[in-house]
Amino acid sequence: MSEHIGTSGVRALLKCVTRPTPQQEEQFRIFLDRTYHAGGTENVELEIRVTPEIHGGFILDVGSDEYDWSTHGRERQFETAIDEARKKSRGDLLPMLKTAISEFRVLAQKSEVGTVETAGDGIVTIQGLDHVMYGEIILFENGVKGMVQNIERDHVGAILFDQEGTIGEGSRVTGIGKRAGIPVSDAYLGRVVDALGNPMDGGGRIEADEYRPIEEPAPGIIDRQPVSEPMETGILAIDSMFPIGRGQRELIIGDRQTGKTSIAVDTILNQKGKNCICIYTAIGQKASTVASLVNQLKKSGAMDYSVVLVSTAADPAPLQYIAPYSATSLAEYFMHRGKDVLIVYDDLSKHAVAYRTISLLLGRSPGREAYPGDVFYLHSRLLERSARLSERLGGGSITALPIIETQGGDVSAYIPTNVISITDGQIFLESNLFFQGQRPAVNVGLSVSRVGGAAQTKAMKKAAGSLRIDLAQYREMEVFTQFSSDLDTSTQKLLKKGKAQMELLRQPLGHPMSMAEQVLSLIAAEHNLFSDMDHLPVKECQGKLIRFFHESHPDLIARLEMTKTLEDDLKERILAACDEFAASVKPEDGTNEKNSISMEDPIRAKDNPARA
Ligand code: ATP
Ligand code: MG
Repeated sequence: MSEHIGTSGVRALLKCVTRPTPQQEEQFRIFLDRTYHAGGTENVELEIRVTPEIHGGFILDVGSDEYDWSTHGRERQFETAIDEARKKSRGDLLPMLKTAISEFRVLAQKSEVGTVETAGDGIVTIQGLDHVMYGEIILFENGVKGMVQNIERDHVGAILFDQEGTIGEGSRVTGIGKRAGIPVSDAYLGRVVDALGNPMDGGGRIEADEYRPIEEPAPGIIDRQPVSEPMETGILAIDSMFPIGRGQRELIIGDRQTGKTSIAVDTILNQKGKNCICIYTAIGQKASTVASLVNQLKKSGAMDYSVVLVSTAADPAPLQYIAPYSATSLAEYFMHRGKDVLIVYDDLSKHAVAYRTISLLLGRSPGREAYPGDVFYLHSRLLERSARLSERLGGGSITALPIIETQGGDVSAYIPTNVISITDGQIFLESNLFFQGQRPAVNVGLSVSRVGGAAQTKAMKKAAGSLRIDLAQYREMEVFTQFSSDLDTSTQKLLKKGKAQMELLRQPLGHPMSMAEQVLSLIAAEHNLFSDMDHLPVKECQGKLIRFFHESHPDLIARLEMTKTLEDDLKERILAACDEFAASVKPEDGTNEKNSISMEDPIRAKDNPARA
């Protein structure tokens, strides 16, 4: 955009260290006349200002166009060239410098320079940047970076990735022609980084392989394949009833302090040795919470295969807004190399709030709950990037565990319903259960996994067969029978079994269970081993049972892990071993009638077709 005076004049500012000679000045006028069609050099108004800061040469400003022939500009260009070369050639300094110098071309390019109209709350409006694109990185004169978010008729709105500091009305800014992105490489494993990929753990520079835009289109239908491999969480309540497959998106939803983060962290810990890369994204969280989480991952040796990407509550809203997209770009880098990746977004409620802040400041119109109209798209375009790629593309996958915090268990609020409809299922955590000590506090009735069943191992599917129905029956019966005391024996049995099964689903933090251990526990519970052991608490009995199998029947565990199926003869042997175990843990006196019938219960043989 040139600045015209009258109908066909042009006004320009020439910055220089020494004033140009009259001949040079005339050359400038001719150049301006030709470029801006002033209709003759007499219509060119050229102001000359001596500016020693540019070190030498000239800078010509015409409206929002800038022509930089200054020494300072050359220095900057050379710095960029060196930087580019360093990104390309990792390691050796000398060859890198040689290529940088040989490839360096002085460019007296015309660039577009905008001026800031308003600045505040991490948002700026800029006038004069007519050729920037949505999502382009813009660079202010003091080195602060921003990203274009709104393109309007005569100005653009941008978000800042830094505290605005010295940016104010009149600050100058240029587009760099690149969309926002983060550097990615294998060197990120084990690191804690911010939303722009800069290290935050004091561990020094991270060498980058490439630079990936933070917003990428999701893989298309042809590029995908169905979910078929399990992503084991190691949590019995989830793996048995709400199995997650690699490439799936399973929402973890619940009120505050119901163990949402704990489930995600336990899942990360359980990926040890399973050839899966984990990325934990903290969005708008307290720095202290993130620090303790990183400590926990380090202590358990999980940092070796993990990356933690952090935007704390103290970070400006724009950084919180881009954090999950950056994390996904990093995940995609690994996925396209054929790796399986698990990504946790903790949490997307805060992400939506950060986006609402930005949108309101940018002047977009608020809708339901004051969120902008495109808040659904905010999360759908993020979560659609999780996929299992086809074999042709290497077969890598991204499994997403987004987290949503509800208020008072209300899953029908705006953001929760949106994310529920985007994901392939949800694990609903309930405060009541949590306070009753039922932890993890998974609500069996409201949780679901829509595609994971296809990825569940055959053994687990068979062992967990009727667990959900049993528990549903138990819950119904429990409410019914709360006030009555005289129950018939079959109802009593059902209640007892359900209670034991609920108890069985309790699991302390940081104690993931292997598939075989889960299957053994489920088979034992199905055949009333735990409910019949009145002298032993269920969890204690379960611990003993698993230890017993590891010590006395390692062959059965090995076979389960190997074949991942539960053939009838294997089940038979497991049940025989259960009987053996039950006999070994009978109370000393052995005369307690209740206990002595436990394993010889005739109903068991009848209930169990495999044994009949
Ligand atoms: P916030 O809403 O603050 O993010 P959250 O829902 O992520 O909370 P967590 O931080 O995971 O919840 O857990 C809350 C507390 O509950 C923690 O102190 C954690 O140790 C405890 N907790 C979570 N799961 C279990 C469990 N299975 N057994 C015992 N304690 C647990
Ligand atoms: Mg949490």
